[in-house]
Amino acid sequence: MRKTRRKAAAMTRQVKSNCLRSLVSRGILADTHAHLDFEMLSKNYQAVLNRAQQKGIEEIWLMSIDRDSFTRNLEFIAKAQKYTAKVKSQTSFPILRLAAGIDMEVLIPGSEVFSARLFSFSEQQLLEFLQREWQFMLEQAAKAKIPVEIVGEVGIDHYHLQNAYENSEITRKDVEQSHKLQQVMFEFFLNKAGELLLPLSIHTRGAEELCLEIVGRYSAAAKLSGVFHSYTGPLTLINEIKALGFYIGLNGIVSYKSASHILRRVLRDLKEKGQPSNTSVAGHADPKANSGGAETATLLKNLYQAGYVLETDAPYLVTAGADSKSLKQAYGERLNDPAGVADTLEFLGEQV
Ligand SMILES: [Zn+2]
Repeated sequence: MRKTRRKAAAMTRQVKSNCLRSLVSRGILADTHAHLDFEMLSKNYQAVLNRAQQKGIEEIWLMSIDRDSFTRNLEFIAKAQKYTAKVKSQTSFPILRLAAGIDMEVLIPGSEVFSARLFSFSEQQLLEFLQREWQFMLEQAAKAKIPVEIVGEVGIDHYHLQNAYENSEITRKDVEQSHKLQQVMFEFFLNKAGELLLPLSIHTRGAEELCLEIVGRYSAAAKLSGVFHSYTGPLTLINEIKALGFYIGLNGIVSYKSASHILRRVLRDLKEKGQPSNTSVAGHADPKANSGGAETATLLKNLYQAGYVLETDAPYLVTAGADSKSLKQAYGERLNDPAGVADTLEFLGEQV
């Protein structure tokens, strides 16, 4: 009991170090990108926590896409603290780390979270809005005594915009307005991350080169760190991303055919780190074997050393071969959850 109280206290402690560097140096299994404010995950928070605990997930980063999502994440953490303080268990529940950010999708016409109001803003109006939202999020976190430890989800997406344009759903002018405002917003958050020395979780789909160029520019002024989350961009940029001190975020996508180029590259990089082939990380029957096995630990360490971290993007992107039945049982449908990083790790273990 005392142990679990200590764990709850640990979740609210003030930030002293960069949580990305810390998780990599400790070699722990973590989900560095999850949307736990998604209704079916939030509602079933006990299942989210229990399943993550059983798979040995030690840390989860909760992404925010706007102020409402941020508030729901704060509520999730508060519920989790109460629950984990009550439950007696031999193994630790994952530490929940809070991210603050606004997803670029609010500036993408056609997206579910698109805001016509924001889209009509001038650059100056957008910056004023962002400053208000940022202040709101920091104040809410301070009130709840839960530190903001990551900036995310932020970034630039040209992929969906290009699709909408090709399908004649939006005009060239819309595309240009979105490009401009998305970049203003991204740079705003890079500034905040630099000021507070927080790692970032960056979405870069279809704009990988542009994001890298901007991050490089900002990194020169303030030492930034973070993850290029759910990376499926050109392989030629991977070394440059790593050279900036950023990691490549791998999730269930690496098990899909569409990302086989990324998988091949990861396997090559692992080989260079001396990863023995045919690592078996199976062992569903004994959850501890899944997370605590020496082979799994080596694979994870080598992944980190090669510049990769794991994530889920839950509730999306379930890893191929994941136990669909248990996901449906837990959430009513086949949704991904942070326990899914163990599936991705297991998949990678089968490939090396
Ligand atoms: Zn996401």
